[in-house]
Amino acid sequence: MSWPKLSDRQLESGACCICGARAALGVELHAWEEHDEADRPTDIAVEVCEACVARKLIDKHPRLYRKLDPMEPFPGCMRICEGCRFKEGPSCTHPAAKRNGGDGVTITVAHAIQAIACGSDRGGRWSRRFNIWADHPKACAERVAEPECRCARNEEGERYWRDPDCPAPHRDA
Ligand SMILES: [Zn+2]
Ligand SMILES: [Zn+2]
Repeated sequence: MSWPKLSDRQLESGACCICGARAALGVELHAWEEHDEADRPTDIAVEVCEACVARKLIDKHPRLYRKLDPMEPFPGCMRICEGCRFKEGPSCTHPAAKRNGGDGVTITVAHAIQAIACGSDRGGRWSRRFNIWADHPKACAERVAEPECRCARNEEGERYWRDPDCPAPHRDA
């Protein structure tokens, strides 16, 4: 079995890039950061379902993937990214984002606690610095709110009549 980068398989939002399962009741997706051949972080996130994590499929992948903290500032995967026109799946498409070659988007974050974890494994002793996020990021300077949908929807939120002049992008249909 060959292993393409999971980011090459992240075709659409809301689907596991290993098995293709879509987010639904009982199918929970989480964002993971992809690393390069030398295990360096890439600022690229992919979505993986809990079942694939439980089956250790993400551990078996030759590339290193790191599960994002739900409150971590990561363009494309933050709560404030919802409803932004630059969000596409778990990715930020703004040219300022590092994954797109920019200097990074400007994110306002709550105070983070710096922590150091130490341990040992086959490679010997290691220590790793990481942040404990106290709250969700508050703002992103590059965020542009998507226009609101004006179509008619039923109680489940499904669109049953499309307003021909609706300015919303309708990625859900
Ligand atoms: Zn899956
Ligand atoms: Zn609409």
